[in-house]
Amino acid sequence: MNEFFGKLKTGIKNTGINVKKTVDVSSFRLKAGRTRAEIEEEYYNFGKRIFENYQNTKGFQEVETVAEEFCRKIEGMQNEVSSLDAKIQEKKKRKKCPCGETVPSNTKFCPFCGHKF
Ligand SMILES: [Zn+2]
Repeated sequence: MNEFFGKLKTGIKNTGINVKKTVDVSSFRLKAGRTRAEIEEEYYNFGKRIFENYQNTKGFQEVETVAEEFCRKIEGMQNEVSSLDAKIQEKKKRKKCPCGETVPSNTKFCPFCGHKF
């Protein structure tokens, strides 16, 4: 009976970990997707801003300033997407120990139970 409850407990624990991992990965994916969409929007805003400046001034005097502002902003957003993608990859690179814990895939010994992989 104790063994049964032990297995049940481990099962519940495992499910909890898997759910957390899935939630983490989906929230990172969601955020990365949103940021990618925002980058597309910024490309549009960039062009619109340049054109509005041209209409108001009949010139391109502010193009460099506007371009730098947008490029820096977009670059920052791209870095955010890259870091989210890296986090997603890191989350995916995990393996499960017989004790029920998940550990990074390059782990040789489980830090929770000492199991040798
Ligand atoms: Zn373990």
